Amino acid sequence: MFIETTNSKGRCLVATTHIARGSVVASEVPVAASPSPGHCSFCYGSNASKVCTGCRLASFCSVACQRSNWPSHKGLCRQLKAGASIPRSLQPLFALFVAVVDHSSIAVTVDALAADRSRFDSTTIEAFGRMVVARQAALASNAPHPVDSSSTTNPGDAGRQINLLCKISCNAVGISHPSTFEDCGVALFPETIAKANHSCVPNCTLLFDLPSASARLIALQDITPDTELTISYIDAADPFPIRQKDLQSRPTCKGFFQYNPPTIPAPTPCTCCKSTSNPIQPIQTLTSLSKQCTPKDTDPSNLSHLLTLQTRLLSPNSPLTLQTRQRLYSIHLSSANWQSALLLCNEIACTLESIYPPLSPSLGLQYLSLCRLALLVAQDLHPSMYPAILKDANTLMGVAEKAHVVFSTVLGDSHLLTLEAKEKRYELGAFYAAFGVRTGK
Ligand SMILES: [Zn+2]
Ligand SMILES: [Zn+2]
Ligand SMILES: [Zn+2]
Repeated sequence: MFIETTNSKGRCLVATTHIARGSVVASEVPVAASPSPGHCSFCYGSNASKVCTGCRLASFCSVACQRSNWPSHKGLCRQLKAGASIPRSLQPLFALFVAVVDHSSIAVTVDALAADRSRFDSTTIEAFGRMVVARQAALASNAPHPVDSSSTTNPGDAGRQINLLCKISCNAVGISHPSTFEDCGVALFPETIAKANHSCVPNCTLLFDLPSASARLIALQDITPDTELTISYIDAADPFPIRQKDLQSRPTCKGFFQYNPPTIPAPTPCTCCKSTSNPIQPIQTLTSLSKQCTPKDTDPSNLSHLLTLQTRLLSPNSPLTLQTRQRLYSIHLSSANWQSALLLCNEIACTLESIYPPLSPSLGLQYLSLCRLALLVAQDLHPSMYPAILKDANTLMGVAEKAHVVFSTVLGDSHLLTLEAKEKRYELGAFYAAFGVRTGK
């Protein structure tokens, strides 16, 4: 065993021995797991269009997936029916609750976890209360004999179940897809993984196996004994208000995710000429542009202008700058503007390098996207881009190398992403060789 859960620092995981980068520190099978809305209840795929006619909550991507899931879904379908009246965002939590609440041994394990009930506002607690009542009503309406009404209305029991919902909500871990790293569900790992605390610069990451949703805790760097093992609970790419909300219960966190963009001062008129145009002009433009640019904004020139100002006035690596850059990047991708997409992809990789540890899977994915785009631009679409691509030959070969190192360390040599990174490295090498470019490799 590499780790212990200690009480001296509160609930946390601590290394008891040297842990080498890339090692599997712990693996755990979830006591309960649920896909995100729209994801398949069996394989967690994102294209689940077949809805279970029993509960209308679970959905599947194929009849085969539905059949495979039936043995475990059968016992929960009736209760899940109550979930159809619950807000979509709370449905995965409800599914975890249903899987845990009647399972006394699991409920006891989950009950033993830490949870700060003060984190939940009264609206959320009320929503939890409605979930408890909805489940009891679903059970009662389907029971072959009327259920003893005292058991469905016992306020002590309802209070205990609301507490259980708080614990589940505090300790559930997002499942990211093993290939795309997209969020595809939530799961509960009360034994070990729930005890790993958050860090904005974590030394471990979680990888999931589907459809079991079991998790492996992987060291992202060499870890010395007595070091606390941490994971990131949240996504660096989330907008600031979401990250801040996620971290409200972690006031000690001083990392990137708590970074608050500086307040832009109101323009003060110049004392002699009374003009407000100079030198506050760019700040005013930034403020008004920030207001104009909604998350749905699709005007690349607006966003480019905003990006220039954010880079100058905030910082090239500020979360807001990153957010704008990612928005612009996705617009260029969707309009097949590969050349601009390539430049932005590179800038995003640079920003992520300042946020994530060097072996983070998210960073690896960004490197791989960069290689894909570079080859796309160079080989097929824009022969006129050759000079620019060739100029960066060393950098791009370095990126291909980094993508391969990240994936082989974190995912192992036979994983598809590792294989693709390796292939892209060879392809880039072959491309440069064809143009007689020496890459220093
Ligand atoms: Zn499926
Ligand atoms: Zn069902
Ligand atoms: Zn932090």
